Amino acid sequence: MAAKQYKKLGCLDVSPAGGCAFEVRAETEEEVLRMVADHGKAMHQMTSVPPDVVAKIKAAIKNVSINV
Ligand SMILES: [Zn+2]
Repeated sequence: MAAKQYKKLGCLDVSPAGGCAFEVRAETEEEVLRMVADHGKAMHQMTSVPPDVVAKIKAAIKNVSINV
Protein backbone atom coordinates (compact mmCIF):
# COMPACT_ATOMS: atom_id res chain seq x y z
CA MET A 1 0.00 0.00 0.00
CA ALA A 2 1.41 3.34 -1.00
CA ALA A 3 0.17 6.83 -0.36
CA LYS A 4 -0.53 8.87 -3.42
CA GLN A 5 -0.67 12.65 -3.42
CA TYR A 6 -3.67 14.32 -4.92
CA LYS A 7 -4.89 17.88 -5.28
CA LYS A 8 -8.45 18.44 -4.21
CA LEU A 9 -10.81 21.32 -4.74
CA GLY A 10 -14.47 21.83 -4.03
CA CYS A 11 -16.72 24.27 -5.82
CA LEU A 12 -17.73 25.52 -2.36
CA ASP A 13 -14.09 26.41 -1.61
CA VAL A 14 -14.15 28.90 -4.46
CA SER A 15 -17.75 29.99 -4.24
CA PRO A 16 -19.20 29.30 -0.76
CA ALA A 17 -22.43 31.05 -1.69
CA GLY A 18 -22.91 28.86 -4.74
CA GLY A 19 -24.22 25.86 -2.84
CA CYS A 20 -22.62 23.49 -5.34
CA ALA A 21 -21.19 20.27 -3.89
CA PHE A 22 -18.97 19.47 -6.88
CA GLU A 23 -15.45 18.37 -6.02
CA VAL A 24 -12.48 17.57 -8.19
CA ARG A 25 -9.48 15.46 -7.39
CA ALA A 26 -6.50 15.24 -9.70
CA GLU A 27 -2.79 14.59 -9.59
CA THR A 28 -1.71 18.02 -10.78
CA GLU A 29 -2.81 21.60 -10.32
CA GLU A 30 -3.18 21.97 -14.09
CA GLU A 31 -5.58 19.04 -14.18
CA VAL A 32 -7.63 20.48 -11.32
CA LEU A 33 -7.84 23.82 -13.11
CA ARG A 34 -8.90 22.14 -16.33
CA MET A 35 -11.63 20.11 -14.64
CA VAL A 36 -12.87 23.11 -12.69
CA ALA A 37 -12.99 25.17 -15.89
CA ASP A 38 -15.04 22.41 -17.57
CA HIS A 39 -17.35 22.27 -14.58
CA GLY A 40 -17.76 26.06 -14.50
CA LYS A 41 -18.65 26.02 -18.17
CA ALA A 42 -21.15 23.18 -17.88
CA MET A 43 -22.78 24.06 -14.58
CA HIS A 44 -22.23 27.74 -13.93
CA GLN A 45 -22.38 29.29 -17.39
CA MET A 46 -18.80 30.47 -17.07
CA THR A 47 -17.40 30.82 -20.56
CA SER A 48 -13.91 31.41 -19.22
CA VAL A 49 -12.15 31.47 -15.87
CA PRO A 50 -10.97 34.99 -15.03
CA PRO A 51 -7.48 35.39 -13.53
CA ASP A 52 -8.81 36.35 -10.11
CA VAL A 53 -10.82 33.13 -10.00
CA VAL A 54 -7.77 31.14 -11.07
CA ALA A 55 -5.87 32.72 -8.16
CA LYS A 56 -8.73 31.82 -5.83
CA ILE A 57 -8.76 28.24 -7.10
CA LYS A 58 -5.00 27.86 -6.66
CA ALA A 59 -5.23 29.23 -3.12
CA ALA A 60 -8.05 26.82 -2.27
CA ILE A 61 -6.49 23.63 -3.65
CA LYS A 62 -5.74 21.16 -0.89
CA ASN A 63 -3.17 18.40 -0.93
CA VAL A 64 -4.53 15.06 0.12
CA SER A 65 -2.87 11.69 0.26
CA ILE A 66 -4.76 8.56 -0.57
CA ASN A 67 -3.71 5.01 0.11
CA VAL A 68 -3.77 2.97 -3.05
ZN1 LIG B 1 -20.04 24.04 -9.09
